[in-house]
Amino acid sequence: MNAQPAPISWHERARALEFRTQAFIDGRYLDAASGATFDTVNPATGKLLARVAAGDQEDINRAVLAARTAFRKGAWVNLRPAKRKRILLQFADLIARHAEELALLETLDMGKPITNSFKGDVPGAAACVRWYAEALDKVYDEVAPTGPGALAFVTREPLGVIGAIVPWNYPLLMAAWKFAPILASGNSLVLKPSEKSPLTALRVAQLAVEAGVPPGVFNVVPGLGQTAGKALALHMDVDCIAFTGSTATGKQIMQYAGQSNLKRVSLECGGKSPNIVLADYPDLDKAATAAAHAIFDNQGEVCSAGSRLLLQEGIKDAVLEKVQAMARGMQPGDPLDAATQMGAIVDETQMKRVLGYIDAGRNAGAQVRFGGRRVREDSGGYFIEPTVFEGVKPAMPIAREEIFGPVLSAITFKTVDEAIEIANDVIYGLASAVWTRDVTTAHRVARALRAGTVYINCYDADDITVPFGGFKQSGIGRDKSLHALEKYTELKTTWLDLT
Ligand code: NAD
Repeated sequence: MNAQPAPISWHERARALEFRTQAFIDGRYLDAASGATFDTVNPATGKLLARVAAGDQEDINRAVLAARTAFRKGAWVNLRPAKRKRILLQFADLIARHAEELALLETLDMGKPITNSFKGDVPGAAACVRWYAEALDKVYDEVAPTGPGALAFVTREPLGVIGAIVPWNYPLLMAAWKFAPILASGNSLVLKPSEKSPLTALRVAQLAVEAGVPPGVFNVVPGLGQTAGKALALHMDVDCIAFTGSTATGKQIMQYAGQSNLKRVSLECGGKSPNIVLADYPDLDKAATAAAHAIFDNQGEVCSAGSRLLLQEGIKDAVLEKVQAMARGMQPGDPLDAATQMGAIVDETQMKRVLGYIDAGRNAGAQVRFGGRRVREDSGGYFIEPTVFEGVKPAMPIAREEIFGPVLSAITFKTVDEAIEIANDVIYGLASAVWTRDVTTAHRVARALRAGTVYINCYDADDITVPFGGFKQSGIGRDKSLHALEKYTELKTTWLDLT
């Protein structure tokens, strides 16, 4: 009989965990030039986890110089693609081999359940690096059809030095969606992780160097948005900012580009995604189960969360009863317990923001059908129950603004056209979904929805092969898929006269 492997004792391993807390510049860990630090707190306990180097202008200058020097020397960009591929494959293997450590860092730093970090985020990051590694020596350039008198090549060249600024909700995965295609296309980068979740980024850059990425190509400067992030986005020697975060910060990033060197900007911003269930859909249990995951997974801290559930009149109670049952089974728990499905909200500020929206929903006249409270307060951590509002009107703030927490706003409608109108009537356009058995309706609605992704009869289906990003104020540009490479390269025409 085969013995079952002993379950991982995450608490025990967490006690033995070491944190990298210095900036990673030119292949070395360094304190901030000013010596300053900021605190990163474990959101499940409210206790200090680590003091992390608080980078500012000077650290950003050092990191950009290291990245520029590495790019000029060409040790990475001029490698044969097959060789660059081998190094990135090795990097992906190292991420996978350090899955326990990285998953623990992620969970302790931002509060998501360890099972999600270990089985989702970390393997997802490794798979992303592997996919771009595999792709990089299979992408060909073009020869333009100019006729026999000329040979005109259209080639893609790396931009040079890219600043990547990322949020805290999927710290490692969002960073990987940036650094994998950035590195695959031969660029150098300076990564600025969120001050709420800097730990995995600080470790993963070291793994890149261990895999053979030359020092200086992949740098990480932790620090506050207003100092390190702003300095990076204003830097005159940064060619592009690849940003993921809120729409408000995205707007600032565009301004910084305009104030400095007109650097390229790509933005992956917020969302308020509509999930439309039509009464003809035969399996309401399936739709309701997906609707619950769409808003409660990752504590609702998901840019593409299905935060607006649009239900056709007549099916509201059937769907919400099931969503409510799901919510009851997804009560927040200790993130280090492998059975926990919902963890802690990233910090006290975000928890208060979410609770503020719950109050605003009540005050506007919507009814809390389930949840609505802070729980597990004794732990010292920041936990909120999965919360379901019904009776929500499209004009209410909880139907228009991104809450970024486990709060579902259920809205009813009569006709398909009304659903489309409500769905599109927000500033965002990241994801959306429609549930119907009618193929014509499905396609008609999919065409009409102004969103970067439309799911039909599912929610949050995902694969690295498809682009991800937003219409409207949800952003500019796409992560994932071969399209992401377009953001980190410039087109060059080389014209050879043959006459
Ligand atoms: P945020 O905008 O507050 O911060 C994002 C990053 O920007 C952080 O690293 C922060 O330090 C930095 N930053 C803040 N102010 C800055 C400034 N003035 N200059 C330069 N950098 C600055 O967002 P957040 O709270 O960390 O993340 C949540 C947001 O991210 C949500 O709106 C969510 O929808 C969005 N998000 C979008 C996607 C996507 O793919 N579209 C994915 C994940 C998260």
